[in-house]
Amino acid sequence: MSTTVTTLDTPTDSASARRPIPDAATREIIGYAPVHTVDDLDRAIAAARAAQPAWAALGHEERRRRLNAVADNIEARAEELAHLLSREQGKPLNGPNARFEVGACAIWTRSAADTPLEPEVVFDDGTTHAEVHYDPLGVVGAIGPWNWPMMISVWQIAPALRMGNTVVVKPSEFTPLSVIALADVFNAHLPEGVLSVVSGDREVGAAVAGHPGLDKIMFTGSTATGRRVVEASAHNLARLTLELGGNDAGIVLPGTDLAAVAEGLFWGIFLNTGQTCAALKRLYVHSSQYDEVVEALAGLARAMPMGNGLDEANVLGPLQNEKQFDIVRRLVDDARDRGARIVTGGRAATELGPLFYETTVVADISDGTPLVDEEQFGPVVPVIRYDDVDDAVARANRSSQGLGASVWSSDLEAATAVAARLQAGTVWINQHGAINPNVPFGGVKASGYGQEFGAAGLKAVAAPKVIQR
Ligand code: NAD
Repeated sequence: MSTTVTTLDTPTDSASARRPIPDAATREIIGYAPVHTVDDLDRAIAAARAAQPAWAALGHEERRRRLNAVADNIEARAEELAHLLSREQGKPLNGPNARFEVGACAIWTRSAADTPLEPEVVFDDGTTHAEVHYDPLGVVGAIGPWNWPMMISVWQIAPALRMGNTVVVKPSEFTPLSVIALADVFNAHLPEGVLSVVSGDREVGAAVAGHPGLDKIMFTGSTATGRRVVEASAHNLARLTLELGGNDAGIVLPGTDLAAVAEGLFWGIFLNTGQTCAALKRLYVHSSQYDEVVEALAGLARAMPMGNGLDEANVLGPLQNEKQFDIVRRLVDDARDRGARIVTGGRAATELGPLFYETTVVADISDGTPLVDEEQFGPVVPVIRYDDVDDAVARANRSSQGLGASVWSSDLEAATAVAARLQAGTVWINQHGAINPNVPFGGVKASGYGQEFGAAGLKAVAAPKVIQR
């Protein structure tokens, strides 16, 4: 069965080449994406630049109204969007997956529309009065990954539009159809040129990053590509928001009530089948509870159904692409060769489809092993034993990355004290990866810089301007 996917008719859609896009689970072709070129990108940016002054002139109230209409429309078309997302990305409809992601698109669009951002009085001594106003930047380039393609695009597009910018989006070459369909919903409420999708490969991504017609780049992807985006920004001096990779640590403190946290731990690790930037990717557990935690996670891993995302029974899916599948397999094979214990999983689940890998728990492993030190981005967790909390904190902080981290404990005071010592953009207590449109999100160290969501997110796509009298 193959589904015809409507592609966006943008002013840039002059591409004659079309790329077949497979169903992530079955590898059947589900549709075709345009293959745009750097020339198409130039045209999209020119159209965005031409459309920007009138879009900015509409004012906050009108843009707020239109973005809320977009959110209504996302909700009205939620099932159709979730089905496409499930097939292209692989995540099941059910569980914290495709329907959840589409729902989040509507929530984040409304939040970007409705979050207040008034001019701020920063100084007033009776003689001098200074205010900071937030003007549009101009044209924003948005480059996205393949793991949460719709939701992350909304995080980039909606605040930028709200602040009076126009936007050119470059989706991942692995998940263009989801982003094109999402942009289609936005475009029903926007003037021409305000939002375009340029569906190109990595070369087009590189051209976006250094394009002289862009004022800001919102980039979400790997740390390696993020470094290239920084280099490219030397040419256009575009401002950057960089949401990069993570290798989030979780620490289970001694004396934790495991029954209360086991399921939260599982989903903190295996959300979107582990293909989540801020998933828990290495778990440090005190010796006193090590075996108990390993067994609890392995039990849940064996019980959670994995398979084709359109089957309502499933809550875990395939790896999205071959490259990611190979990374996961290599890291687990390497850990096994080094003597780590594969408690459950540890093999490709090809009976489910070519890119499925069993939900895997690896024990008796330590830092210095690639599975612990590198981002696995798949359904695998290494569980590391520790005896001393200070040592666990030091090991958690040893990573060059710092997106998220978590502390798990029945003692809130002890957990908060450990949280304060962890180097990460967000430290969760008794949860991992939970996000909220009003709470700023971003990384430290090699996980990037800049924050998204809420007022901080609106400021990140605006030019602060002081008016003083
Ligand atoms: P990636 O870096 O390979 O690709 C991301 C995007 O960059 C794609 O659209 C790609 O075409 C484009 N690109 C490629 N070369 C480019 C260049 N030279 N200049 C500009 N753009 C270029 O990442 P991915 O494999 O799609 O995504 C997985 C990674 O993203 C993981 O490391 C994950 O942790 C990270 N991620 C981070 C967040 C976050 O919020 N911090 C969210 C999701 C994913």
